[in-house]
Order: sequence, then structure tokens, then C-alpha cells
Amino acid sequence: MSTIKSAIQAVGERIRQAAAAAGRAPESILLLAVSKTFAADNVREAYTTTGQRAFGENYVQEGVDKIRQLSDLPLEWHFIGPLQSNKTRPVAEHFHWVHTVDRLKIAERLSAQRPEHLPPLQLCIQVNVSGETSKSGCGFADVPALAAAITRLPRLQLRGLMCIPEPTEDRSTLLEQFGALRDCLQRLNRQGYRLDTLSMGMSADLEQAIAAGSTMVRVGTAIFGARHAATGH
Ligand SMILES: *Cc1c(COP(=O)(O)O)cnc(C)c1O
Repeated sequence: MSTIKSAIQAVGERIRQAAAAAGRAPESILLLAVSKTFAADNVREAYTTTGQRAFGENYVQEGVDKIRQLSDLPLEWHFIGPLQSNKTRPVAEHFHWVHTVDRLKIAERLSAQRPEHLPPLQLCIQVNVSGETSKSGCGFADVPALAAAITRLPRLQLRGLMCIPEPTEDRSTLLEQFGALRDCLQRLNRQGYRLDTLSMGMSADLEQAIAAGSTMVRVGTAIFGARHAATGH
């Protein structure tokens, strides 16, 4: 059995166990396979051996190249890397989702550049849940105004929130930071939004993310193995 196939099956099992432990339905959690730095052939193998359809990319050019090479497959592409305003056009033209919007200017450009023949771009607001100054993401206090402004943009559909917690193995810190993102989403929904996505959890912490309510885990290393240096942006 191929390594990618068995790795995806093992991650699926981790998701099922974490969901069961949290009393949640395993189908309520989508696995996003993070293929950054790995070749299009690895993505093709993941799809053909397991039916995995959702893939995440961090670097615009690398992602667009893979999307083109794999256009014969019914894949769903998620942009999950930092996004500068001069790189929004290829993202708006090629991806289905963007998880890392943390300011209005980026959202405005994505909406203006989203081609008419495509469905609205699906969006998450990235929130800096740890307060580390080095991290991207807006602060919790900025979320309501940004969500309201994004909702008014015609070619975007706001789906939810995304975070990368502080790198720590401390379970309670992770639960606290993931839980804060869930509470923020619930506050928005009480104000009338219908947001269904909490993009949180990676290879090392997907159990804590699922315990806190994650609906989308972004898993790279546990599927494709250790990454080499980034292949350029
Ligand atoms: C690389 C990356 C991941 C995957 O991380 P792993 O630890 O390899 O599972 C998830 N989310 C984001 C935003 C990433 O940049």
C-alpha cells in the first residue's frame, strides 16, 4: 500500500477517534491535505488512491502551477498562506477558498478580481489567537467589523474563521486558543451570521482542535512527510 494512502487513512482514523471523544460526527470535520512543497504527482496519488479532494497550498505560484497540472481532477483548492495585495489576482482566479484574509484591502481585491464565471470565493478570516506579534491574523476585536465589510463584497462568501495557535505542546493552551476562536464564531452567529467553518488543527494538534469544535483540519506532514525548504514564493 502506498505511503500517502496509508497516511491519509491513519489521519482519517485520528479524526474519527477525536470526533468520537468529543461526541461529534466525524463527517462534520473535513480533512484538508496540505501539499505545499510536494509535487503534483503526490497530490494525484492522494486523490486516486483515497478520493481525497481538498488540498491546501501556501505559495501562490507553486499552487497555481499545481492547479493547472491537475485540472483534469475534480479537486478543491484552498489558499492557506500569507497573502500580499500584489498576489491576490492569481489566487482569485484559481483557488476555491482563501483561509488567510486578515484585512479589508485583501478582501476587496479578491472580490474585484474574482472572475464572473466562477462561484464566489469562499473565505475565512484569520485571527491571531495567541497575540504573538510575529503572527498574521487580525485581533479578536477587529473581527466583527471585518466580517461585516466582507459580507458586503459581491464576489466573496464568508464561511468562518481560521487560526494557527502558538507552537506549544501544552494541551490546555491549545484548547484555550482554539476555544477562543470557536467562541468568536459563535458570537458572530448569534448576531445573525451563518458561518459554518472553523479552520483549525494541523498534524500535531488536530485532536485538540477537534475537541474545541474544528470543522476543517489542515494536515501536511502527517500525510506527505517532512517538508524540504520552501520552493520559492
Ligand atoms: C503548513 C501548514 C499546515 C500544515 O502543517 P503540518 O504541521 O505539516 O500538518 C497547516 N496550516 C497552515 C496555515 C500551514 O502553513
